[in-house]
Amino acid sequence: MASQHQADYDVIAVGAGFSGLGLIHHMREAGLSIQVFDKASDIGGTWAWNHYPGAASDSECYYYCLTFSKEILQEWKWSVRYPGWEENLRYMHFVADKCDMWPHIQLNTEIVSADFQEASGLWLVKTGAGDEYTCKYFVSAMGMISEPVTPKFKGMEKFKGACFHSARWPEGLDYAGKRVGIIGSGATTVQMLPVTAETAESVTVFQRTANFIMPAVQKPMTPEWEKEIKENYDDIIAKCRNHVFGMAFDSPVGRTIADTPPEEVQKILEEHWPRGSFRFVFETFDDLLGDPESNRIVGDFVINKMKERVKDPEIAEMLTPKGYPFFAKRPPLDHNYFEAYNRDNVKLVDINDREPIVEFTETGIRTTENEYEFDIIVLATGFQAYTGGQEALPIRGRNGLLLRDKWDAVSSSILGVFVAEFPNLFMITGPQAPFANLPTSIEQNIMYIVDCLKKMESEGYDLCEPQQKAEDDWVQHVAEIHEQTLMAQGDKVHSWMMGANLEDRAPRVLIYFGGANVYYDLMRSSVDSGFPEVQFEKLAS
Ligand code: NAP
Repeated sequence: MASQHQADYDVIAVGAGFSGLGLIHHMREAGLSIQVFDKASDIGGTWAWNHYPGAASDSECYYYCLTFSKEILQEWKWSVRYPGWEENLRYMHFVADKCDMWPHIQLNTEIVSADFQEASGLWLVKTGAGDEYTCKYFVSAMGMISEPVTPKFKGMEKFKGACFHSARWPEGLDYAGKRVGIIGSGATTVQMLPVTAETAESVTVFQRTANFIMPAVQKPMTPEWEKEIKENYDDIIAKCRNHVFGMAFDSPVGRTIADTPPEEVQKILEEHWPRGSFRFVFETFDDLLGDPESNRIVGDFVINKMKERVKDPEIAEMLTPKGYPFFAKRPPLDHNYFEAYNRDNVKLVDINDREPIVEFTETGIRTTENEYEFDIIVLATGFQAYTGGQEALPIRGRNGLLLRDKWDAVSSSILGVFVAEFPNLFMITGPQAPFANLPTSIEQNIMYIVDCLKKMESEGYDLCEPQQKAEDDWVQHVAEIHEQTLMAQGDKVHSWMMGANLEDRAPRVLIYFGGANVYYDLMRSSVDSGFPEVQFEKLAS
Protein backbone atom coordinates (compact mmCIF):
# COMPACT_ATOMS: atom_id res chain seq x y z
CA MET A 1 0.00 0.00 0.00
CA ALA A 2 1.27 3.45 -0.92
CA SER A 3 -0.19 5.40 2.00
CA GLN A 4 2.16 6.37 4.83
CA HIS A 5 -0.54 5.54 7.37
CA GLN A 6 -1.73 2.01 7.66
CA ALA A 7 -5.44 1.63 7.04
CA ASP A 8 -7.62 -1.32 8.02
CA TYR A 9 -8.61 -1.72 4.37
CA ASP A 10 -7.60 -0.16 1.09
CA VAL A 11 -11.27 0.19 0.20
CA ILE A 12 -14.41 0.36 2.28
CA ALA A 13 -17.65 0.37 0.33
CA VAL A 14 -21.17 0.83 1.62
CA GLY A 15 -23.77 -1.26 -0.19
CA ALA A 16 -23.77 -4.94 -1.10
CA GLY A 17 -25.85 -4.79 -4.26
CA PHE A 18 -24.58 -4.99 -7.82
CA SER A 19 -22.08 -2.22 -6.99
CA GLY A 20 -20.66 -3.88 -3.89
CA LEU A 21 -20.30 -7.27 -5.59
CA GLY A 22 -18.72 -5.73 -8.69
CA LEU A 23 -16.31 -3.76 -6.51
CA ILE A 24 -15.22 -6.87 -4.64
CA HIS A 25 -14.36 -8.59 -7.88
CA HIS A 26 -12.49 -5.68 -9.46
CA MET A 27 -10.65 -4.53 -6.33
CA ARG A 28 -9.42 -8.04 -5.61
CA GLU A 29 -8.20 -8.30 -9.20
CA ALA A 30 -6.31 -5.04 -8.64
CA GLY A 31 -4.71 -6.46 -5.51
CA LEU A 32 -6.54 -4.13 -3.11
CA SER A 33 -8.18 -5.17 0.12
CA ILE A 34 -11.87 -4.38 0.34
CA GLN A 35 -14.66 -4.65 2.87
CA VAL A 36 -18.29 -4.03 1.97
CA PHE A 37 -20.79 -3.08 4.67
CA ASP A 38 -24.55 -3.15 4.34
CA LYS A 39 -27.24 -2.45 6.89
CA ALA A 40 -29.52 -5.00 5.21
CA SER A 41 -29.61 -8.57 6.44
CA ASP A 42 -28.83 -9.86 2.96
CA ILE A 43 -26.84 -8.89 -0.09
CA GLY A 44 -28.81 -7.64 -3.10
CA GLY A 45 -29.08 -3.89 -2.60
CA THR A 46 -32.43 -2.86 -4.02
CA TRP A 47 -33.52 -6.52 -4.00
CA ALA A 48 -32.69 -6.92 -0.34
CA TRP A 49 -35.28 -4.24 0.40
CA ASN A 50 -37.95 -4.22 -2.28
CA HIS A 51 -40.05 -7.28 -1.45
CA TYR A 52 -43.46 -5.84 -2.23
CA PRO A 53 -45.76 -8.19 -4.17
CA GLY A 54 -44.83 -8.16 -7.85
CA ALA A 55 -41.39 -6.56 -7.37
CA ALA A 56 -39.34 -7.43 -10.42
CA SER A 57 -36.73 -5.86 -12.65
CA ASP A 58 -37.85 -3.73 -15.59
CA SER A 59 -34.65 -4.48 -17.49
CA GLU A 60 -34.63 -7.81 -19.28
CA CYS A 61 -32.69 -10.41 -17.27
CA TYR A 62 -29.87 -11.13 -19.69
CA TYR A 63 -28.48 -7.61 -19.51
CA TYR A 64 -29.60 -6.88 -15.95
CA CYS A 65 -26.58 -8.65 -14.52
CA LEU A 66 -22.86 -8.36 -13.89
CA THR A 67 -20.67 -9.29 -16.82
CA PHE A 68 -17.18 -9.66 -15.36
CA SER A 69 -17.34 -13.46 -15.32
CA LYS A 70 -17.99 -15.26 -18.60
CA GLU A 71 -18.42 -18.43 -16.59
CA ILE A 72 -21.27 -16.97 -14.53
CA LEU A 73 -22.95 -15.60 -17.65
CA GLN A 74 -22.94 -19.12 -19.07
CA GLU A 75 -23.83 -20.99 -15.88
CA TRP A 76 -26.61 -18.90 -14.40
CA LYS A 77 -30.11 -19.73 -15.65
CA TRP A 78 -32.86 -17.13 -15.68
CA SER A 79 -36.43 -18.44 -15.63
CA VAL A 80 -38.26 -15.43 -17.09
CA ARG A 81 -37.68 -12.25 -19.07
CA TYR A 82 -38.14 -9.99 -16.01
CA PRO A 83 -37.05 -11.82 -12.85
CA GLY A 84 -38.84 -11.18 -9.59
CA TRP A 85 -36.99 -10.07 -6.47
CA GLU A 86 -36.49 -13.63 -5.22
CA GLU A 87 -34.81 -14.69 -8.44
CA ASN A 88 -32.65 -11.57 -8.51
CA LEU A 89 -31.54 -12.38 -4.98
CA ARG A 90 -30.78 -15.99 -5.92
CA TYR A 91 -28.67 -14.70 -8.80
CA MET A 92 -26.71 -12.39 -6.51
CA HIS A 93 -26.09 -15.21 -4.05
CA PHE A 94 -24.88 -17.34 -6.95
CA VAL A 95 -22.36 -14.62 -7.86
CA ALA A 96 -21.21 -14.16 -4.27
CA ASP A 97 -20.87 -17.93 -3.70
CA LYS A 98 -19.16 -18.64 -6.97
CA CYS A 99 -16.62 -15.85 -6.51
CA ASP A 100 -16.10 -16.50 -2.80
CA MET A 101 -17.10 -12.95 -1.93
CA TRP A 102 -18.61 -13.52 1.50
CA PRO A 103 -15.43 -12.85 3.52
CA HIS A 104 -15.53 -9.31 2.11
CA ILE A 105 -19.13 -8.63 3.12
CA GLN A 106 -20.45 -7.60 6.52
CA LEU A 107 -24.24 -7.47 6.68
CA ASN A 108 -26.53 -6.04 9.39
CA THR A 109 -24.01 -3.25 9.79
CA GLU A 110 -25.08 0.33 9.27
CA ILE A 111 -22.35 2.83 8.54
CA VAL A 112 -23.34 5.88 10.55
CA SER A 113 -20.54 8.28 9.60
CA ALA A 114 -17.57 8.64 7.30
CA ASP A 115 -14.96 11.32 7.94
CA PHE A 116 -11.93 12.30 5.92
CA GLN A 117 -8.92 12.63 8.20
CA GLU A 118 -6.75 15.53 7.06
CA ALA A 119 -3.62 14.33 8.86
CA SER A 120 -3.51 10.75 7.64
CA GLY A 121 -5.40 11.16 4.38
CA LEU A 122 -7.54 8.18 5.39
CA TRP A 123 -11.28 7.86 5.84
CA LEU A 124 -12.61 6.97 9.29
CA VAL A 125 -15.80 4.96 9.03
CA LYS A 126 -18.04 4.23 12.03
CA THR A 127 -20.73 1.59 12.38
CA GLY A 128 -23.95 1.73 14.35
CA ALA A 129 -22.47 -0.81 16.76
CA GLY A 130 -19.66 1.63 17.56
CA ASP A 131 -16.92 -0.08 15.58
CA GLU A 132 -14.43 2.07 13.71
CA TYR A 133 -12.48 1.26 10.58
CA THR A 134 -10.08 3.23 8.43
CA CYS A 135 -9.60 2.97 4.70
CA LYS A 136 -7.69 4.80 2.04
CA TYR A 137 -10.59 4.85 -0.41
CA PHE A 138 -14.22 5.25 0.61
CA VAL A 139 -16.77 4.17 -1.99
CA SER A 140 -20.48 4.86 -1.97
CA ALA A 141 -22.13 1.81 -3.49
CA MET A 142 -25.44 2.73 -1.92
CA GLY A 143 -27.56 2.69 -5.05
CA MET A 144 -29.22 5.33 -7.08
CA ILE A 145 -32.73 4.66 -5.82
CA SER A 146 -32.36 3.38 -2.29
CA GLU A 147 -33.44 5.95 0.30
CA PRO A 148 -37.24 5.88 0.68
CA VAL A 149 -39.23 9.11 0.74
CA THR A 150 -42.03 8.95 3.27
CA PRO A 151 -44.28 12.01 3.14
CA LYS A 152 -45.81 13.25 6.35
CA PHE A 153 -49.57 13.15 6.10
CA LYS A 154 -51.61 14.75 8.85
CA GLY A 155 -52.67 12.25 11.50
CA MET A 156 -50.48 9.41 10.19
CA GLU A 157 -49.65 8.26 13.69
CA LYS A 158 -53.37 7.70 14.43
CA PHE A 159 -53.80 4.90 11.90
CA LYS A 160 -54.20 1.60 13.76
CA GLY A 161 -53.42 -0.76 10.87
CA ALA A 162 -50.09 -1.52 9.21
CA CYS A 163 -48.53 1.44 7.40
CA PHE A 164 -45.14 1.27 5.72
CA HIS A 165 -43.11 2.35 2.70
CA SER A 166 -43.24 -0.06 -0.25
CA ALA A 167 -39.48 -0.69 0.06
CA ARG A 168 -39.99 -1.85 3.66
CA TRP A 169 -42.73 -4.43 3.04
CA PRO A 170 -42.97 -6.45 6.27
CA GLU A 171 -41.68 -10.00 5.79
CA GLY A 172 -44.58 -12.44 5.57
CA LEU A 173 -47.33 -9.81 5.75
CA ASP A 174 -50.56 -11.49 4.70
CA TYR A 175 -52.77 -9.14 2.74
CA ALA A 176 -55.25 -11.81 1.59
CA GLY A 177 -58.77 -10.72 2.48
CA LYS A 178 -57.50 -7.34 3.71
CA ARG A 179 -58.41 -3.82 2.62
CA VAL A 180 -55.28 -2.26 1.15
CA GLY A 181 -54.69 1.41 0.37
CA ILE A 182 -51.73 2.42 -1.80
CA ILE A 183 -50.51 6.01 -2.01
CA GLY A 184 -48.63 6.67 -5.24
CA SER A 185 -48.91 5.37 -8.79
CA GLY A 186 -45.32 5.03 -9.98
CA ALA A 187 -43.37 1.97 -11.15
CA THR A 188 -43.76 0.28 -7.76
CA THR A 189 -47.55 0.54 -7.69
CA VAL A 190 -47.79 -0.50 -11.32
CA GLN A 191 -46.11 -3.78 -10.33
CA MET A 192 -47.80 -4.14 -6.95
CA LEU A 193 -51.46 -3.49 -7.77
CA PRO A 194 -52.25 -6.47 -10.04
CA VAL A 195 -50.68 -8.94 -7.62
CA THR A 196 -52.24 -7.59 -4.42
CA ALA A 197 -55.64 -7.23 -6.08
CA GLU A 198 -55.77 -10.97 -6.71
CA THR A 199 -56.27 -11.85 -3.05
CA ALA A 200 -56.88 -8.63 -1.13
CA GLU A 201 -60.48 -7.84 -0.24
CA SER A 202 -59.98 -4.46 -1.90
CA VAL A 203 -57.17 -2.25 -3.16
CA THR A 204 -57.53 1.51 -3.44
CA VAL A 205 -54.87 3.50 -5.28
CA PHE A 206 -54.46 7.18 -4.43
CA GLN A 207 -53.02 8.77 -7.57
CA ARG A 208 -51.52 12.24 -7.77
CA THR A 209 -50.06 12.10 -11.29
CA ALA A 210 -50.98 9.66 -14.05
CA ASN A 211 -48.09 8.00 -15.88
CA PHE A 212 -47.36 6.93 -19.41
CA ILE A 213 -47.18 3.16 -18.97
CA MET A 214 -45.82 0.62 -21.43
CA PRO A 215 -46.31 -3.15 -21.54
CA ALA A 216 -43.55 -5.32 -20.07
CA VAL A 217 -44.71 -8.52 -21.82
CA GLN A 218 -43.36 -11.11 -19.43
CA LYS A 219 -42.39 -14.47 -20.91
CA PRO A 220 -40.58 -17.61 -19.81
CA MET A 221 -36.96 -18.19 -20.74
CA THR A 222 -37.01 -20.99 -23.30
CA PRO A 223 -34.00 -23.25 -24.03
CA GLU A 224 -33.78 -21.72 -27.53
CA TRP A 225 -33.77 -18.15 -26.24
CA GLU A 226 -31.25 -19.00 -23.55
CA LYS A 227 -28.96 -20.63 -26.15
CA GLU A 228 -29.19 -17.57 -28.38
CA ILE A 229 -28.35 -15.27 -25.46
CA LYS A 230 -25.45 -17.35 -24.22
CA GLU A 231 -23.95 -17.65 -27.69
CA ASN A 232 -24.04 -13.90 -28.12
CA TYR A 233 -22.88 -12.48 -24.81
CA ASP A 234 -19.96 -10.53 -26.25
CA ASP A 235 -22.37 -8.83 -28.59
CA ILE A 236 -24.90 -8.16 -25.82
CA ILE A 237 -22.24 -6.59 -23.58
CA ALA A 238 -21.00 -4.45 -26.47
CA LYS A 239 -24.55 -3.33 -27.25
CA CYS A 240 -25.11 -2.24 -23.63
CA ARG A 241 -21.80 -0.42 -23.59
CA ASN A 242 -22.70 1.49 -26.74
CA HIS A 243 -26.33 2.23 -26.02
CA VAL A 244 -27.69 5.55 -24.87
CA PHE A 245 -29.48 3.87 -21.92
CA GLY A 246 -26.98 1.04 -21.40
CA MET A 247 -29.43 -1.55 -22.72
CA ALA A 248 -28.85 -4.31 -25.26
CA PHE A 249 -31.02 -2.65 -27.89
CA ASP A 250 -30.60 -2.00 -31.59
CA SER A 251 -30.51 1.76 -31.81
CA PRO A 252 -30.31 4.32 -33.26
CA VAL A 253 -32.59 2.85 -35.89
CA GLY A 254 -31.90 5.48 -38.53
CA ARG A 255 -35.44 6.75 -39.04
CA THR A 256 -37.46 9.60 -37.60
CA ILE A 257 -41.15 10.24 -37.24
CA ALA A 258 -40.65 13.62 -38.85
CA ASP A 259 -39.45 11.92 -42.06
CA THR A 260 -41.89 9.01 -42.11
CA PRO A 261 -45.44 9.15 -43.58
CA PRO A 262 -48.05 9.16 -40.77
CA GLU A 263 -49.64 5.82 -41.69
CA GLU A 264 -46.20 4.19 -41.78
CA VAL A 265 -45.45 5.70 -38.34
CA GLN A 266 -48.59 4.10 -36.90
CA LYS A 267 -47.74 0.78 -38.55
CA ILE A 268 -44.24 0.76 -37.02
CA LEU A 269 -45.53 1.75 -33.58
CA GLU A 270 -48.17 -1.01 -33.76
CA GLU A 271 -45.55 -3.58 -34.73
CA HIS A 272 -43.26 -2.69 -31.84
CA TRP A 273 -45.85 -2.20 -29.08
CA PRO A 274 -46.54 -5.91 -28.38
CA ARG A 275 -42.83 -6.67 -28.02
CA GLY A 276 -42.72 -5.03 -24.59
CA SER A 277 -39.88 -3.42 -22.59
CA PHE A 278 -38.22 -0.07 -23.22
CA ARG A 279 -37.43 -1.29 -26.73
CA PHE A 280 -40.53 0.57 -27.89
CA VAL A 281 -38.79 3.85 -27.11
CA PHE A 282 -35.40 3.02 -28.58
CA GLU A 283 -36.14 0.69 -31.48
CA THR A 284 -38.93 2.60 -33.23
CA PHE A 285 -37.82 6.14 -34.09
CA ASP A 286 -34.78 8.21 -33.23
CA ASP A 287 -36.60 11.51 -32.70
CA LEU A 288 -39.32 10.64 -30.23
CA LEU A 289 -37.39 11.90 -27.23
CA GLY A 290 -36.04 14.98 -28.96
CA ASP A 291 -38.69 16.36 -31.32
CA PRO A 292 -41.76 17.68 -29.43
CA GLU A 293 -44.20 16.83 -32.25
CA SER A 294 -42.80 13.31 -32.66
CA ASN A 295 -43.00 12.92 -28.90
CA ARG A 296 -46.67 14.03 -28.95
CA ILE A 297 -47.52 11.49 -31.66
CA VAL A 298 -45.98 8.64 -29.67
CA GLY A 299 -47.48 9.92 -26.42
CA ASP A 300 -50.96 9.88 -28.01
CA PHE A 301 -50.33 6.36 -29.29
CA VAL A 302 -49.37 5.17 -25.80
CA ILE A 303 -52.42 6.84 -24.25
CA ASN A 304 -54.76 5.18 -26.75
CA LYS A 305 -53.22 1.81 -26.02
CA MET A 306 -53.60 2.36 -22.28
CA LYS A 307 -57.23 3.45 -22.57
CA GLU A 308 -58.19 0.45 -24.72
CA ARG A 309 -57.55 -1.82 -21.76
CA VAL A 310 -59.69 -0.04 -19.17
CA LYS A 311 -63.43 -0.76 -19.34
CA ASP A 312 -64.69 2.27 -17.41
CA PRO A 313 -64.09 5.42 -19.51
CA GLU A 314 -63.98 7.60 -16.40
CA ILE A 315 -61.19 5.52 -14.86
CA ALA A 316 -59.43 5.41 -18.23
CA GLU A 317 -59.51 9.21 -18.29
CA MET A 318 -58.16 9.41 -14.75
CA LEU A 319 -55.29 7.13 -15.77
CA THR A 320 -54.42 9.35 -18.73
CA PRO A 321 -51.21 11.37 -18.28
CA LYS A 322 -51.70 15.05 -18.98
CA GLY A 323 -49.59 18.15 -19.32
CA TYR A 324 -46.12 16.66 -19.70
CA PRO A 325 -44.29 14.86 -22.50
CA PHE A 326 -43.88 11.11 -22.87
CA PHE A 327 -40.71 9.90 -21.07
CA ALA A 328 -40.27 13.13 -19.08
CA LYS A 329 -41.14 10.89 -16.13
CA ARG A 330 -39.73 7.38 -16.11
CA PRO A 331 -42.50 5.26 -17.69
CA PRO A 332 -43.32 2.15 -15.67
CA LEU A 333 -43.64 -1.20 -17.44
CA ASP A 334 -46.85 -3.01 -16.66
CA HIS A 335 -47.90 -6.58 -16.02
CA ASN A 336 -51.73 -6.30 -16.27
CA TYR A 337 -51.90 -3.01 -14.39
CA PHE A 338 -54.81 -1.65 -16.42
CA GLU A 339 -56.78 -4.89 -16.26
CA ALA A 340 -56.59 -4.62 -12.47
CA TYR A 341 -58.82 -1.52 -12.70
CA ASN A 342 -61.48 -3.67 -14.38
CA ARG A 343 -61.86 -5.69 -11.19
CA ASP A 344 -64.65 -4.92 -8.72
CA ASN A 345 -62.26 -4.84 -5.77
CA VAL A 346 -59.95 -2.13 -7.21
CA LYS A 347 -60.61 1.59 -6.89
CA LEU A 348 -58.69 4.63 -8.18
CA VAL A 349 -58.83 7.92 -6.30
CA ASP A 350 -57.60 11.12 -7.95
CA ILE A 351 -55.95 13.02 -5.11
CA ASN A 352 -54.70 15.76 -7.36
CA ASP A 353 -57.84 17.36 -8.81
CA ARG A 354 -60.84 15.63 -7.32
CA GLU A 355 -60.29 14.66 -3.73
CA PRO A 356 -56.98 15.52 -2.09
CA ILE A 357 -56.00 13.63 1.04
CA VAL A 358 -56.94 15.59 4.16
CA GLU A 359 -55.62 13.25 6.83
CA PHE A 360 -55.09 9.75 8.08
CA THR A 361 -57.61 8.53 10.63
CA GLU A 362 -57.57 5.59 13.04
CA THR A 363 -59.23 3.46 10.41
CA GLY A 364 -57.90 4.80 7.13
CA ILE A 365 -57.68 7.91 4.98
CA ARG A 366 -60.02 10.88 4.74
CA THR A 367 -60.05 12.89 1.52
CA THR A 368 -61.97 16.09 0.88
CA GLU A 369 -64.85 13.94 -0.41
CA ASN A 370 -64.76 10.53 1.28
CA GLU A 371 -63.50 8.34 4.09
CA TYR A 372 -61.73 5.12 3.17
CA GLU A 373 -61.16 2.27 5.63
CA PHE A 374 -58.06 0.10 5.42
CA ASP A 375 -56.22 -2.67 7.22
CA ILE A 376 -52.97 -1.84 5.41
CA ILE A 377 -51.67 1.40 3.89
CA VAL A 378 -48.65 1.19 1.59
CA LEU A 379 -46.68 4.34 0.92
CA ALA A 380 -45.42 3.68 -2.61
CA THR A 381 -44.13 7.22 -2.60
CA GLY A 382 -40.70 6.77 -4.15
CA PHE A 383 -37.14 7.56 -3.24
CA GLN A 384 -34.60 10.32 -2.87
CA ALA A 385 -32.86 9.40 -6.08
CA TYR A 386 -29.12 9.78 -6.64
CA THR A 387 -28.32 11.60 -3.39
CA GLY A 388 -30.44 9.77 -0.79
CA GLY A 389 -27.88 7.12 0.12
CA GLN A 390 -24.99 9.54 0.53
CA GLU A 391 -27.08 12.04 2.48
CA ALA A 392 -28.52 9.46 4.88
CA LEU A 393 -25.30 9.50 6.90
CA PRO A 394 -22.88 12.32 7.60
CA ILE A 395 -20.06 12.11 5.06
CA ARG A 396 -17.52 14.80 5.90
CA GLY A 397 -14.76 15.87 3.55
CA ARG A 398 -12.10 18.54 3.92
CA ASN A 399 -12.56 20.96 6.84
CA GLY A 400 -15.48 18.89 8.08
CA LEU A 401 -17.65 19.86 5.11
CA LEU A 402 -20.84 17.78 5.10
CA LEU A 403 -21.71 16.32 1.72
CA ARG A 404 -25.41 16.96 2.30
CA ASP A 405 -24.66 20.63 3.05
CA LYS A 406 -22.53 20.94 -0.04
CA TRP A 407 -25.45 19.55 -2.07
CA ASP A 408 -28.06 21.86 -0.53
CA ALA A 409 -28.63 23.82 -3.74
CA VAL A 410 -26.78 21.85 -6.41
CA SER A 411 -26.01 18.14 -6.24
CA SER A 412 -22.68 18.60 -7.94
CA SER A 413 -20.11 16.02 -8.95
CA ILE A 414 -17.57 15.17 -11.58
CA LEU A 415 -19.02 12.43 -13.80
CA GLY A 416 -21.22 11.32 -10.90
CA VAL A 417 -18.09 9.78 -9.35
CA PHE A 418 -15.95 12.48 -7.69
CA VAL A 419 -16.86 15.44 -5.48
CA ALA A 420 -14.50 18.38 -4.96
CA GLU A 421 -13.36 18.73 -1.34
CA PHE A 422 -13.91 15.02 -0.76
CA PRO A 423 -10.53 13.41 -1.51
CA ASN A 424 -10.45 9.66 -2.08
CA LEU A 425 -14.25 9.49 -2.07
CA PHE A 426 -15.81 7.69 -5.01
CA MET A 427 -19.47 7.26 -5.87
CA ILE A 428 -21.04 4.64 -8.07
CA THR A 429 -23.89 6.25 -10.03
CA GLY A 430 -23.85 9.39 -7.93
CA PRO A 431 -25.70 12.58 -8.91
CA GLN A 432 -25.12 13.81 -12.45
CA ALA A 433 -24.35 10.35 -13.78
CA PRO A 434 -26.76 9.06 -16.46
CA PHE A 435 -30.01 7.19 -15.80
CA ALA A 436 -29.47 3.87 -17.54
CA ASN A 437 -29.55 0.11 -17.19
CA LEU A 438 -27.93 0.02 -13.79
CA PRO A 439 -25.59 -2.98 -14.00
CA THR A 440 -24.05 -1.49 -17.16
CA SER A 441 -23.43 1.90 -15.56
CA ILE A 442 -22.26 0.32 -12.33
CA GLU A 443 -19.66 -1.82 -14.07
CA GLN A 444 -18.45 1.11 -16.16
CA ASN A 445 -18.14 3.23 -12.99
CA ILE A 446 -16.27 0.48 -11.18
CA MET A 447 -13.77 0.03 -14.01
CA TYR A 448 -13.19 3.77 -14.04
CA ILE A 449 -12.62 3.89 -10.28
CA VAL A 450 -10.36 0.85 -10.33
CA ASP A 451 -8.24 2.42 -13.07
CA CYS A 452 -7.88 5.52 -10.91
CA LEU A 453 -6.89 3.47 -7.87
CA LYS A 454 -4.39 1.44 -9.88
CA LYS A 455 -2.74 4.66 -10.99
CA MET A 456 -2.61 5.92 -7.42
CA GLU A 457 -1.10 2.73 -6.12
CA SER A 458 1.38 2.15 -8.92
CA GLU A 459 2.61 5.75 -8.79
CA GLY A 460 2.67 5.98 -5.02
CA TYR A 461 0.03 8.67 -4.46
CA ASP A 462 -1.84 9.20 -1.23
CA LEU A 463 -4.62 11.49 -2.35
CA CYS A 464 -6.95 11.80 -5.29
CA GLU A 465 -8.17 15.40 -5.07
CA PRO A 466 -11.18 16.17 -7.35
CA GLN A 467 -10.73 19.60 -8.92
CA GLN A 468 -13.27 22.36 -8.34
CA LYS A 469 -12.90 23.64 -11.90
CA ALA A 470 -13.64 20.16 -13.31
CA GLU A 471 -16.71 19.96 -11.07
CA ASP A 472 -17.94 23.40 -12.19
CA ASP A 473 -17.46 22.37 -15.81
CA TRP A 474 -19.35 19.09 -15.38
CA VAL A 475 -22.21 20.78 -13.51
CA GLN A 476 -22.54 23.35 -16.29
CA HIS A 477 -22.33 20.74 -19.04
CA VAL A 478 -24.97 18.54 -17.40
CA ALA A 479 -27.24 21.58 -16.93
CA GLU A 480 -26.88 22.63 -20.56
CA ILE A 481 -27.84 19.17 -21.76
CA HIS A 482 -30.74 19.02 -19.30
CA GLU A 483 -32.08 22.27 -20.80
CA GLN A 484 -32.41 20.55 -24.18
CA THR A 485 -34.44 17.63 -22.82
CA LEU A 486 -38.13 16.95 -22.25
CA MET A 487 -37.52 17.29 -18.53
CA ALA A 488 -36.97 21.01 -18.95
CA GLN A 489 -40.27 21.51 -20.82
CA GLY A 490 -42.66 23.37 -18.61
CA ASP A 491 -43.16 23.21 -14.88
CA LYS A 492 -45.49 20.20 -14.93
CA VAL A 493 -42.76 17.59 -15.02
CA HIS A 494 -42.93 16.55 -11.40
CA SER A 495 -40.32 13.82 -11.52
CA TRP A 496 -37.99 12.17 -9.05
CA MET A 497 -35.48 12.43 -11.90
CA MET A 498 -35.08 16.07 -10.83
CA GLY A 499 -35.66 15.52 -7.15
CA ALA A 500 -39.07 17.19 -7.53
CA ASN A 501 -40.54 14.61 -5.13
CA LEU A 502 -38.70 16.05 -2.14
CA GLU A 503 -40.68 18.41 0.04
CA ASP A 504 -37.72 20.11 1.68
CA ARG A 505 -35.51 20.65 -1.35
CA ALA A 506 -35.77 22.54 -4.61
CA PRO A 507 -35.73 20.45 -7.81
CA ARG A 508 -32.35 20.27 -9.46
CA VAL A 509 -30.43 18.68 -12.31
CA LEU A 510 -29.65 15.17 -11.09
CA ILE A 511 -29.04 13.28 -14.30
CA TYR A 512 -26.62 13.52 -17.19
CA PHE A 513 -28.79 13.13 -20.28
CA GLY A 514 -26.02 13.20 -22.87
CA GLY A 515 -26.30 9.43 -23.32
CA ALA A 516 -24.87 6.63 -21.20
CA ASN A 517 -22.62 5.55 -24.08
CA VAL A 518 -21.18 9.08 -24.39
CA TYR A 519 -20.66 9.11 -20.63
CA TYR A 520 -18.83 5.76 -20.71
CA ASP A 521 -16.64 7.18 -23.51
CA LEU A 522 -15.90 10.24 -21.36
CA MET A 523 -14.72 8.03 -18.51
CA ARG A 524 -12.49 6.06 -20.85
CA SER A 525 -10.94 9.20 -22.30
CA SER A 526 -10.39 10.49 -18.76
CA VAL A 527 -8.43 7.28 -18.02
CA ASP A 528 -6.47 7.65 -21.25
CA SER A 529 -5.54 11.24 -20.39
CA GLY A 530 -4.46 10.40 -16.84
CA PHE A 531 -7.60 11.65 -15.02
CA PRO A 532 -7.36 15.39 -15.68
CA GLU A 533 -10.40 15.98 -13.41
CA VAL A 534 -8.41 15.13 -10.31
CA GLN A 535 -5.07 16.04 -8.85
CA PHE A 536 -2.92 13.23 -7.48
CA GLU A 537 -0.90 14.13 -4.41
CA LYS A 538 1.54 12.69 -1.95
CA LEU A 539 1.26 13.57 1.71
CA ALA A 540 4.24 15.48 3.06
CA SER A 541 6.37 13.13 5.13
P1 NAP B 1 -42.09 7.03 -7.99
O1 NAP B 1 -42.02 6.69 -9.42
O2 NAP B 1 -41.37 8.22 -7.51
O3 NAP B 1 -43.60 7.11 -7.63
C1 NAP B 1 -44.01 7.62 -6.39
C2 NAP B 1 -45.48 7.87 -6.45
O4 NAP B 1 -45.90 8.41 -5.21
C3 NAP B 1 -45.86 8.89 -7.51
O5 NAP B 1 -47.08 8.50 -8.05
C4 NAP B 1 -45.96 10.17 -6.71
O6 NAP B 1 -46.79 11.15 -7.31
C5 NAP B 1 -46.57 9.66 -5.43
N1 NAP B 1 -46.30 10.53 -4.30
C6 NAP B 1 -45.11 10.89 -3.80
N2 NAP B 1 -45.28 11.72 -2.75
C7 NAP B 1 -46.60 11.87 -2.60
C8 NAP B 1 -47.41 12.61 -1.70
N3 NAP B 1 -46.87 13.36 -0.74
N4 NAP B 1 -48.74 12.54 -1.84
C9 NAP B 1 -49.28 11.79 -2.80
N5 NAP B 1 -48.61 11.07 -3.69
C10 NAP B 1 -47.26 11.11 -3.59
O7 NAP B 1 -41.61 5.81 -7.06
P2 NAP B 1 -41.59 4.27 -7.38
O8 NAP B 1 -42.87 3.86 -7.98
O9 NAP B 1 -41.16 3.56 -6.18
O10 NAP B 1 -40.49 4.16 -8.49
C11 NAP B 1 -39.30 4.94 -8.43
C12 NAP B 1 -38.29 4.44 -9.39
O11 NAP B 1 -37.74 3.27 -8.82
C13 NAP B 1 -38.83 3.99 -10.72
O12 NAP B 1 -39.04 5.01 -11.64
C14 NAP B 1 -37.77 3.04 -11.14
O13 NAP B 1 -36.68 3.67 -11.72
C15 NAP B 1 -37.42 2.39 -9.84
N6 NAP B 1 -38.22 1.19 -9.72
C16 NAP B 1 -37.87 0.23 -10.56
C17 NAP B 1 -38.58 -0.90 -10.57
C18 NAP B 1 -38.13 -1.92 -11.54
O14 NAP B 1 -37.22 -1.70 -12.31
N7 NAP B 1 -38.75 -3.00 -11.57
C19 NAP B 1 -39.67 -1.07 -9.74
C20 NAP B 1 -40.02 -0.06 -8.88
C21 NAP B 1 -39.27 1.08 -8.89
P3 NAP B 1 -46.18 12.22 -8.33
O15 NAP B 1 -45.88 11.46 -9.59
O16 NAP B 1 -47.23 13.23 -8.45
O17 NAP B 1 -44.92 12.74 -7.69
